[in-house]
Amino acid sequence: MNGPEWLNRFHACQDSLLADLEILVNHESPSRDRQALARLCAWLSTRLSRLGASVEVHPGTDGGDHVLARFAGRSSEPPALILGHYDTVWPLGTLERIPFAIAGGRARGPGVLDMKAGLALILAVMEVFREDSSLPARPVWILITSDEEVGSPGSRAVIERVASQCALALVLEPALAGGGLKTARKGVGRFRLDIAGRAAHAGVDPSAGRSAIVELARRILALGEIEDRPLGTTINVGVVAGGTTTNVVPASAWAEVDARVATTREQERVTSAFHAIRPLTPDVEVVVSGGFSRPPMERTPAIAALFDQARLLGRTIGLELTEGSTGGGSDGNFTAALGIPTLDGLGATGGGAHADDEHVVIASLPERAALLALLIEGLKQP
Ligand SMILES: [Zn+2]
Repeated sequence: MNGPEWLNRFHACQDSLLADLEILVNHESPSRDRQALARLCAWLSTRLSRLGASVEVHPGTDGGDHVLARFAGRSSEPPALILGHYDTVWPLGTLERIPFAIAGGRARGPGVLDMKAGLALILAVMEVFREDSSLPARPVWILITSDEEVGSPGSRAVIERVASQCALALVLEPALAGGGLKTARKGVGRFRLDIAGRAAHAGVDPSAGRSAIVELARRILALGEIEDRPLGTTINVGVVAGGTTTNVVPASAWAEVDARVATTREQERVTSAFHAIRPLTPDVEVVVSGGFSRPPMERTPAIAALFDQARLLGRTIGLELTEGSTGGGSDGNFTAALGIPTLDGLGATGGGAHADDEHVVIASLPERAALLALLIEGLKQP
């Protein structure tokens, strides 16, 4: 099928795509809710098997399981990996406040953009192959995980094992504003500083005390030296706590810090800078823990080449695709860091991810489905 033919097919099945989207949104699926995740995992597994995939469920560690659906292809080239996640940031019961609704050309609901619309797109594309009793140009492996929104602690190993057998990775996270793809993402680190001082009576014997809070305050200001905004490296001290009560010199204090980097080089520099932290005041101890949970997705020549192919394929349906970077991480960070050419942001167009006004632009859905189908059929391994 050519671009306009694909587009017509997805315009014709837009209602069933929206029906799937409604089912997906109505299965609430907060990242760590085992029971809620199990219900959606079962629905996805059944649905993908009926579409003709051989489905494996990989047990998760502390949340839900991960679904791997393998579709055969017309060739035996290495597969295209399609990556998605079925967990959301929304707690159970959000639907009572924000029910699934369609109005003004938009679909709303918790997780509708990030990324239940992405899942509905994947199902719509594979449904067309099934209806036509045809196979995609190369094998298609679809991996849908359950813990992306909490940093993918349990699925990272599965993602890396599966991705290393694939030619390329297509990630169905929401598009950039205006529909652009994401060809670079920052790496995400989380560090913790635990400070131990010495308690003393603040009035009777203040000089015997060593204030952990003073050390923490000085340390927080010094962390600015690790930042390098021109290179894209940012540090955010997001949470601090310490002390017990006002008349005690505080013996303990801690902080949790978010670090973002655009390159592997910066990841290494920031990691060593954190681990080189030493106390600024005498008789105080500082313990640093944590590290980077997502490596940066750098725009390699292979990613640039893949995007160029995507841009040409997009033109056949009248899409002028742009590309951009984001400070947020996704599972595309893992595949890109393994050297697998990765395109991210292939999901729906919309806005308000993780916010009350989260929505999908319905008119974008047939286009995005056609784009995904064209990529599966037309991309060559760069
Ligand atoms: Zn997402």
